[in-house]
Amino acid sequence: MTHTIAFIGLGHMGAPMAANLHRAGHRVTAFDLSADALAGAREQGLQVASSAAEAAEGAQVVVSMLPASRHVEALFLGADGLLARLAPGTLVIDCSTIAPASAQAVAQAAAARGHAMLDAPVSGGTAGAAAGTLTFIVGGDAAVLERARPVLQSMGRNIFHMGGHGAGQVAKLCNNMALGVIMAVTGEALALGSAHGLDARALSQMMAVSTGRSWATEVCNPWPGVLENAPSSRGYTGGFGSDLMLKDLGLAVEAAMGVGATIPLGELARNLYAMNRQAGRGGLDFSSVVKVLTER
Ligand code: NAD
Repeated sequence: MTHTIAFIGLGHMGAPMAANLHRAGHRVTAFDLSADALAGAREQGLQVASSAAEAAEGAQVVVSMLPASRHVEALFLGADGLLARLAPGTLVIDCSTIAPASAQAVAQAAAARGHAMLDAPVSGGTAGAAAGTLTFIVGGDAAVLERARPVLQSMGRNIFHMGGHGAGQVAKLCNNMALGVIMAVTGEALALGSAHGLDARALSQMMAVSTGRSWATEVCNPWPGVLENAPSSRGYTGGFGSDLMLKDLGLAVEAAMGVGATIPLGELARNLYAMNRQAGRGGLDFSSVVKVLTER
């Protein structure tokens, strides 16, 4: 089943996701604030619009992929927001990683105008977005998810329904908090071994089949030269930005405070990524956090 889709936010993730929707036969009109992003989308054969409202004209589905809560709220809410301009019954899928409370507020505003909304943050990174193998972590009504399924399946492989509005965001934050901590401690282990004269590649190969194994040792190893295709081996360029990890850990801390949960390792990791930002590496892949431990 194909749909008329407005896609808002054509960054590292949004651009390949929109291209996959187009390739799957959906009628996609895309918008981004950046002229470069619009030019890239046009090159991919996508229809582009000069505003979000124009992109959403006649759309059955709106998909957004924006940096943070404030961008999503600015797009959808308020008298000039997109929710006020959509035809009643439009399906809105926000794939950005944002605060659970913000996802709930936008979903509530959508419902008040008769639209169906899902929070559907993703895991799988830019490679997963390009390959169409993303994991969608969904919050909202089960019936709405069934409506959204053909759209999500055009961009991803796995879909997990975690609960009501905001539950997708909570689950995504839990995953990324674990990832942020694991990346930092993997860097710490490799730095310790190297300081003792061990070869980081040999140490990583051993860990990759031992109990210290993880995505950080096997796929996105933070030590330069260990894995040829990892961001660490190309100056930490591409991949998942350190500042985006810092944002997600900040959201995890906020979410923990909201329910009185204790997340000592998550809070420590948030500080490590904040130090990485202060050292000027906020725009590099988050595995560059290892440099906080190795640079003197
Ligand atoms: P990005 O910064 O590359 O792209 C965001 C895009 O949104 C930019 O092109 C920007 O111009 C555009 N934008 C901002 N406000 C807009 C508005 N009002 N209207 C239209 N366009 C607007 O970010 P990204 O890496 O694509 O990440 C997007 C989201 O996905 C973030 O929430 C991030 O945490 C999450 N995420 C990223 C990755 C990753 O590997 N990069 C992985 C999983 C989840």
